[in-house]
Amino acid sequence: MNKLESIVRNNIRSLKPYSSARDEFKGKADAFLDANENPFGELNRYPDPLQLRLKNLLAQDKGVQPEQLFIGNGSDEVIDLLFRVFCIPGKDNVITISPSYGMYQVSADINDVRLKKVQLDENFEIDPNRLLAEVNENSKIIFLCSPNNPTGNTIDLKIIEQICSEFDGIVLVDEAYIDFADTPSSSQLIDNNWNLVVSQTFSKARGLAAARVGYAIAQTQIIDLLNKVKPPYNVSALNQEAAIKALQNKEEYLQQVSYLKAERIKLQEGLKKLDIVLQIYPSEANFLLVRFSNGLELYQHLVNLGIITRNRNTQVQDSIRISVGTSEENKKLISALNNYK
Ligand SMILES: *Cc1c(COP(=O)(O)O)cnc(C)c1O
Repeated sequence: MNKLESIVRNNIRSLKPYSSARDEFKGKADAFLDANENPFGELNRYPDPLQLRLKNLLAQDKGVQPEQLFIGNGSDEVIDLLFRVFCIPGKDNVITISPSYGMYQVSADINDVRLKKVQLDENFEIDPNRLLAEVNENSKIIFLCSPNNPTGNTIDLKIIEQICSEFDGIVLVDEAYIDFADTPSSSQLIDNNWNLVVSQTFSKARGLAAARVGYAIAQTQIIDLLNKVKPPYNVSALNQEAAIKALQNKEEYLQQVSYLKAERIKLQEGLKKLDIVLQIYPSEANFLLVRFSNGLELYQHLVNLGIITRNRNTQVQDSIRISVGTSEENKKLISALNNYK
């Protein structure tokens, strides 16, 4: 048994996956009478279970092989599937950083897996040795997030490499916001790290949050395990088509990303001038984490004005996470803060 096989749950290693009609016959035919579909209509046929057209385009865009891609119903599906492939409920544990994305905890709770949290330092940097010190024989996954939600900073690729090489379990790097970052993606480390999984999404920079399309990049052995466990038709034909269109429309995507990065700087500058702002954390994402002198009250004040931000007070005291919006929306926010007494 190789390293990867030895950390897969026994029931998953021996699982015989569901074989769908579209797995058993691919290609052209005169009559499809195999899947109990209605022969009439536009959305009457089951979608491609392995999303090959989308994967071919995405692979080109990412500079990886199509076999190194898993497409999920949002990247949240990747998080859940990793638990189900690797973690024995009630026995295994996983490790993450704090503060970070709330779904790691929810997914851990759903799967009855203990999540250990390692506090980031005052600049929200990771100490990899403190993280690795939490590992025991039942630790199966380390969840990292870069740029991190809600802090906005990225993790140095050297630190990711160190964690991958010193941990004999899966390392997930959640890159939901990587499109907005100047730091390169850790997907370039995939070929040299058997245990690295990088997740990205169409929900943020690609503008398709409603469609629910996310993906993982990893060596093919890990991708094969995710494919084995996923629901057979986990990404609808409509969602696959939406993601394909988004990839073909690269010009618009690049324009929007550079617009939002420029707006992020303007928003930072507008906030800097305000007395109630105590700290604006540096961000490589499309949001800013900001600490105010009276964050909780201010959050409610903005709600009353119809401006909805994300109250992050429970994670970082008196902080609010502000998404970068259109120029008009950002101006509205700044003027509301200017008028706040
Ligand atoms: C928004 C977000 C996601 C979203 O995932 P989808 O399921 O693809 O919409 C994943 N990770 C982080 C850190 C996020 O902030």
